[in-house]
Amino acid sequence: MREAVVRCLAALLVAALVAGRVATHRLAAQSPAQGIRHVVARYYTAMSRFDLKLLATTVDPTNRGLERLQRQEAFDWFEEFSGSRVRSRVERIGRMPHGFYRATVHVSVVLHNGDFGEELQSMLFRRVHGEWKLSEPSPGDLGPLRSRAGRGVTLEYYEWDSRQAGRVLKIAERSYARVTRLTGVRLRKNVRVRLLPAYAVSPGHVEDGSVGYYLSRMPNTVFVRSPGSLGFGGYDPSISPYDELGQSITHELTHLVSDRKVGIEGLPDWMTEGFAEWVAGSERPYEVRQALEQHRFLDVRLLDQFSGGASELDLDYGGSYELVDYVIHLKGTGGYWTLLRDYKRTHDLDSALRRSLGMGMYEFQERWQRWLRAKYRLPDTSGYLAPPVPSEQAAA
Ligand SMILES: [Zn+2]
Repeated sequence: MREAVVRCLAALLVAALVAGRVATHRLAAQSPAQGIRHVVARYYTAMSRFDLKLLATTVDPTNRGLERLQRQEAFDWFEEFSGSRVRSRVERIGRMPHGFYRATVHVSVVLHNGDFGEELQSMLFRRVHGEWKLSEPSPGDLGPLRSRAGRGVTLEYYEWDSRQAGRVLKIAERSYARVTRLTGVRLRKNVRVRLLPAYAVSPGHVEDGSVGYYLSRMPNTVFVRSPGSLGFGGYDPSISPYDELGQSITHELTHLVSDRKVGIEGLPDWMTEGFAEWVAGSERPYEVRQALEQHRFLDVRLLDQFSGGASELDLDYGGSYELVDYVIHLKGTGGYWTLLRDYKRTHDLDSALRRSLGMGMYEFQERWQRWLRAKYRLPDTSGYLAPPVPSEQAAA
């Protein structure tokens, strides 16, 4: 029922756009709430139809970086949600400094296989030449970079984020305490957590849409996108965005600590990402269970480098979490560090597994799958999942 209404509304908006000048003037006379609702509807219509021309009409044309990013977002969206039914609804609109408005948008997607997902997404808008556009504050709008020291961490934030700085600092302190407790690593100097309220002030990882990152070239700082910014991305409507922020900070601090302890360059993705997810407590039981039920073989070697495809990433992270969970279940965190160090020395996973866990690659794969199926209370299908060990094959 509601879907039909959205479709009609979208069609009307497209018609209004082709009508040209008159329609544009009518739009300009709208209230902020009306104007923003229209842009949001057009934006998600453009995304779900992969209509880059329509998408371009929704984005601030003076912000080239944001335009590029939205085109990239459309490609990711197409890969993940092509053929899905998408609904968007503006839940709240609030006034921000420098003529910006922030909208909280509820987005729900029904995939063609019947899977359903929903999220909340913050988006900023401002009037450009009389029309409402998706935009972001410029470095000038954000104000100076400030810092506030806490226990183990120092928060760096722009004036723009000053209202949420106290709350974020507390979250960062809790994340730091969790990381030191679970990794056993303690740092002498405070680490820096920098909040990024706009892509324009992000020193790295702009194109891939990541919600946080760590750069080896800035080894004392982790970067996370501000709650309420576009880059923060969609979050689960049933929990607070600040809970997700805490998980992101914990994840990135784990990378920082791991880099300090063993050096993460050259490690397989599952070792670094899986460990960061494990420390953050970010399991993905839904994706992992689905893969196990479909008898998809979670292969250690395939998790060496994540596929990069948006639709596979959840399983890449989820599978890596389970791998790390298994290693730590066997040998504890100390054993995990030993495995990483061993691997760093030889870059040979089979021999590193033999030395630190006492079993080679195939045995490890088979035991891990069996353990995982038991953990998820699924019937044991051992012997089916892992290829035979070469020596056994020769004997048979
Ligand atoms: Zn990571």
